[in-house]
Amino acid sequence: MKNQPTIVWFRQDLRLDDNPALLAAIERGGPVIPVYIWSPREESRWSPGGAGRWWLHHSLVALDKQLRRIGSHLVVRKGNTLTNIKELVRETGANAVFWNRCYEPDVMKRDRRIENALEKPGMVVRAFNGSLLYEPWNILNKQGKPFRVFTAFWKTCLSLDEPEKPCSPPSSLPAVKKRLKSLLPKDLVLLPRLDWAAGIRSTWKVDEQFAREQLSAFIKEHLSEYQSDRDRPDLMGTSRMSPYLHWGQISPRRIWYMIAQKIKNKRGTKFRSSAHAYLRQLGWREFAYHLLYHYPHTTERPLYEAFSNFPWARNMRALRAWQRGRTGYPMVDAGMRELWHTGWMHNRVRMIVASFLVKHLLIPWQEGAKWFWDTLVDADLANNTLGWQWSAGCGADAAPYFRIFNPVTQGYKFDPEGDYVRQWIPEIGKLPNKLIHEPWTADSASLADAGVKLGRTYPRPIIDHADARERALAAYQRIKKN
Ligand SMILES: Cc1cc2nc3c(=O)[nH]c(=O)nc-3n(C[C@H](O)[C@H](O)[C@H](O)COP(=O)(O)OP(=O)(O)OC[C@H]3O[C@@H](n4cnc5c(N)ncnc54)[C@H](O)[C@@H]3O)c2cc1C
Repeated sequence: MKNQPTIVWFRQDLRLDDNPALLAAIERGGPVIPVYIWSPREESRWSPGGAGRWWLHHSLVALDKQLRRIGSHLVVRKGNTLTNIKELVRETGANAVFWNRCYEPDVMKRDRRIENALEKPGMVVRAFNGSLLYEPWNILNKQGKPFRVFTAFWKTCLSLDEPEKPCSPPSSLPAVKKRLKSLLPKDLVLLPRLDWAAGIRSTWKVDEQFAREQLSAFIKEHLSEYQSDRDRPDLMGTSRMSPYLHWGQISPRRIWYMIAQKIKNKRGTKFRSSAHAYLRQLGWREFAYHLLYHYPHTTERPLYEAFSNFPWARNMRALRAWQRGRTGYPMVDAGMRELWHTGWMHNRVRMIVASFLVKHLLIPWQEGAKWFWDTLVDADLANNTLGWQWSAGCGADAAPYFRIFNPVTQGYKFDPEGDYVRQWIPEIGKLPNKLIHEPWTADSASLADAGVKLGRTYPRPIIDHADARERALAAYQRIKKN
């Protein structure tokens, strides 16, 4: 039957641009009902954390605003998803429900249940790919198995046809005549009761238009230096697209084509290799989703079984020092404070703090993953799981466990002037560059000149690097033997 309404169920695709489910709904010809349903219990323990909820609130406000500009609005509901969709079907006579896929294991199971429950004669239920360049089940090795090594995975992706072209945002959206009941985003109580989000608020603008502008500015001003600057937290070396990608304010296809077009139009090997390096990072995101889809247990358990018996330590005091940025290692503490303040942390620093937690402190990677989950605005089950398993040496293509980052040398290498550390740890900011990453080596005159009282204004290291390294290697030997 023609011209009956289509429900478009928004999830992690909170945008109008390049939204295949929305486009397909418009193409059906009838009214379109955009709906968001808040149902955290259905995502079990991986429902959005505190920073993620903050982002989600603002995403819903922004999406509603965008929809109103084109003659529609967002219907917001909460509670059991299937019940809500069925209710909307009854209220509106909709005969189609469309959405873009998610890949989190619990969400996929829930979606399958909903699909089965809705599917009956006369009802069209369709899911689309709105958040990946390639579907994870389409990329397999020669034996028809999923990949565990990134290089081979990405080579295979690049040998395929280019990802589908992104579609443009609609300029109008036919709405149903009936007034539908809807909550306001604030009714979902996603914002913190005690406002700890001032730093996040002043760092981010949650809006799809802004995401594209930010990416354009990055391409214009920084992309040519990406390869050399991407490991430098003291520079604007990366695009900061991760929360927009996670929540869907921008699609990876849109990014791919914005970059690919520049590669076509611009000459110069430096620019081209930087642009390819950037696309490769999008490849890591694809790889993370590939692993999440094929090895769903890895959100909780190591991919490499041997690590199940790793002699982890339970040390609440050390965990708390790490979470609060009070380990006494400036590079680690700066990262953890950047995370707390802005809801984001530079990739190189994520690697350093993660390595410190699992190797220096021997604390299970799952504890770190949980903290990141609660505090990152880009908390993403696929990327977070990959990042933590990589750091702990127990995942696909991971950093070997015996390679232990030294937070001091990492600091001098990637924050050579100490600007990053000074931004987040002002209490040691007056130390000279040569001491900024290891204040405990300063003599008492230098400390006094800089106004630093170790153990009082800034902590002494909670563990000695050489001892920690030995302890970690000994622990590793134990599982290696087994
Ligand atoms: C322990 C740990 C935990 C992490 N947790 C998350 C997480 O929860 N959410 C998240 O989005 N990323 C996570 N990452 C990956 C990475 O740190 C961020 O994606 C990156 O810092 C985002 O910054 P950007 O957008 O400026 O990156 P850019 O360098 O500009 O890269 C562009 C995009 O490529 C993707 N990308 C880049 N690096 C990686 C990577 N190593 N793995 C997967 N995708 C990547 C991201 O989507 C990113 O937005 C984690 C990394 C580690 C080591």
